[in-house]
Amino acid sequence: MSAPTLARRVAWTGAERLVVEPRPAPTPPGPDEIVIRVESVGVCGTDAAIWRGDNNRVRIGTILGHEFGGTVVEVGPNVTIRTVGQQVAVDPNLVCGECRECATGSRGLCRRRELMGLDVDGGLQSYVTVDAANTVAVPGAADPRALALIEPIAVGVRACARANVSPGARLVIVGGGAIGMASALQARSLGAKSVTVIEPDAVRRATITDHGVVALAPGEGAAERWDVAIDTVGSGASVSAVMELLEPGSTICVAGLAKGGALPPTEDLVRRELTLTGTFCYTSEDLSTAAALVARHGLAAIPNDIVQGLNDAPAAIEAFAQGRLGRGKTLIIP
Ligand SMILES: [Zn+2]
Ligand SMILES: [Zn+2]
Repeated sequence: MSAPTLARRVAWTGAERLVVEPRPAPTPPGPDEIVIRVESVGVCGTDAAIWRGDNNRVRIGTILGHEFGGTVVEVGPNVTIRTVGQQVAVDPNLVCGECRECATGSRGLCRRRELMGLDVDGGLQSYVTVDAANTVAVPGAADPRALALIEPIAVGVRACARANVSPGARLVIVGGGAIGMASALQARSLGAKSVTVIEPDAVRRATITDHGVVALAPGEGAAERWDVAIDTVGSGASVSAVMELLEPGSTICVAGLAKGGALPPTEDLVRRELTLTGTFCYTSEDLSTAAALVARHGLAAIPNDIVQGLNDAPAAIEAFAQGRLGRGKTLIIP
């Protein structure tokens, strides 16, 4: 057996400051809780905004990381849905369970939702204790490094549902980042006839092609037409541009939160009977679907960059926030 490595965590201590510190051993879980050894943590735009000091919800000392998964090492006495040794992904949304949205399964829209890694401590540490109900099990055995892909892939699963991607669909995706590639993965699994990603970055386009998805630069292939679109950019300009590429009767689902996002010309929606929808977060079912995709595809599910060790997490998050990483999902392996 290898010697146990020192438990650590990564705390945000102010704009552009992250500290790696020792972490006390986890205390025994509460009756409904489980302790997870964190195996994989994803970095995304939310973490970049926190790092820069652009997020006013986060408090000094908070442990970052809302995309993460690992192996169950201890279960509380009332827990029957998880077992020691099982692989899980964490649903980082802490919800009230009482509002109308919670009652209808739309946990991501809960009016009192708090996010782990932002409002409360997250997964960028050696161990995390959570309610067993806030996890999804991974069927079979997945590459543990891929477990943090489940949360962002669930966003793509939800986007495909909101866009009504069905077998035979010809889907165009604006933006080849993690959510775009997650949407492509789910659309192919749903039996879409074709999936095309529009992406300005040439390096990203090469990676997308390596993943078996057609990648076009903006303006390329303008003669083609599609019948479903997912826009992961979400600016008024991006929505207007992709509308031009769609057949009458198509659906456009907006998944991006670009600053200053504006409505496209509504006359076009009317005259061509286009359907414009939005998507946010995911349901527990979407997370389970994503867990099955990661069990099947492992690290090949969506493009990613691996960073080994929590000690390198601050530099990795800084590099991601400054655009020096991030051509795929950045994964930190504690
Ligand atoms: Zn995220
Ligand atoms: Zn609620």
